[in-house]
Amino acid sequence: MVNDGKRLHSLGAMFVGVFAMVAINLTGCATADARDTSMPSVVELQRVVDEAHAKFKDLKDGKNADYIPILATVPSELFGVVIVTKDGRIYEAGDTDYMFAIESTSKPFNAALVMKEQGAQAIKDKIGVEPTGLPFNSKLALEIYDARSVNPLVNAGAIAQVSMVQADNEDERWQKVQQNLSAFAGEDLPLMDEVYQSEYKTSWSNRAIANLLYNYERLYAEPEESMRVYTKMCSVGVTTKQLGVMGATLANGGVNPLTGKRLLPEEDVPELLAIMLTAGFYDESGEWSFSAGLPAKTGVGGGIVAVVPGEMAIAAFSPRLNEAGNSVRALNAINYISDELNLSIFDGR
Ligand code: GLN
Repeated sequence: MVNDGKRLHSLGAMFVGVFAMVAINLTGCATADARDTSMPSVVELQRVVDEAHAKFKDLKDGKNADYIPILATVPSELFGVVIVTKDGRIYEAGDTDYMFAIESTSKPFNAALVMKEQGAQAIKDKIGVEPTGLPFNSKLALEIYDARSVNPLVNAGAIAQVSMVQADNEDERWQKVQQNLSAFAGEDLPLMDEVYQSEYKTSWSNRAIANLLYNYERLYAEPEESMRVYTKMCSVGVTTKQLGVMGATLANGGVNPLTGKRLLPEEDVPELLAIMLTAGFYDESGEWSFSAGLPAKTGVGGGIVAVVPGEMAIAAFSPRLNEAGNSVRALNAINYISDELNLSIFDGR
């Protein structure tokens, strides 16, 4: 129901947009060419979403994550692409209402919760903000960098940020994490219990990371509690559309465009986006910055969310991943849209 409402909303917005363009052209006061305005037109936004979906829907490269057994069972052909503007208009194509595991796309939003509670500097001091240049589940990163400094978007840093959420007990910690992700989506996001069970039972690598962090005094709650809450955070269910709204909240300076709620102080948004640009694609972040030029975050559930600061978010989902653990179709779709609309933050618009 809620989603139908949004679809009507976006259709309505499209009519208003088309009407406005026609009116502008008729009066001859301005041109409707999107390059002359700060935002691409409604028609153009829907066009690029449709084209990105059509162009990459037959791409079969990569494979589902299988180190978390249940992720291997998600239908590989699913593919959704969404743009959500900073004022909450939604443009979509494909399987945008399919609920998948949020996995690491949760990490910047939980980092936002820690920033809101303790300030952005706490993330820098207690976790680090340096890209590791290593895979997301690297234990080596904790051994080779000074002061065990990593960043909040790799597993080590994300387990640490969960342990930093201010809570008196595990249940409160989890409630705060889940409620914060839901607030970013503007809707309640459920725990996918089957995903949680599948991931928690096989989390030996993350458990090693949590124990190493604790040993180095870079974990701020008990390791197994941190592990459970971290794994639940990764097992939250989200749709491509909801992920788009989460990104649009960052594009909108920290205020959710659907609910009007501020979720992050405006001054912390640039810091968070900087970390997403340099580390959101793990050891592929350089290549991603080079091609799309957008802060983004990927997850092994197949989701990716990219932020165009002050304008919009682009989210895409498809389960097949490349070697770095990033969705092949989703990254191609977002890259295409960024390219078509000249969205790179380095473009000097
Ligand atoms: N929950 C996953 C893990 O800990 C998240 C990894 C990811 O999405 N890149 O391995």
